[in-house]
Amino acid sequence: METDQPAPMNRCGYCGSTNYRRVVERDAQGLMRYGERLLCSGCTREFTDLDAWRQGASDASPPLSAAA
Ligand SMILES: [Zn+2]
Repeated sequence: METDQPAPMNRCGYCGSTNYRRVVERDAQGLMRYGERLLCSGCTREFTDLDAWRQGASDASPPLSAAA
C-alpha cells in the first residue's frame, strides 16, 4: 500500500520541498501585495510562478550563497 504519500506534483523541482511562500511586492500605488513570484522554503530560490517552482526552472535566481 503506497497511497498515503502527499501529492507528488506540488513540490520544488530543485530541492523537493513542499513549502513555498509568495513574494510580497510593492505595486504602482505603493501598496504591499502578493505578486506572482514564489520563494521556496527549502532552497530559498525565487521562482516566477508555481509551474517554475515545480519544474525547478533554470531562470530561478540562486540563493545568496551562490557558488563562485
Ligand atoms: Zn526548493
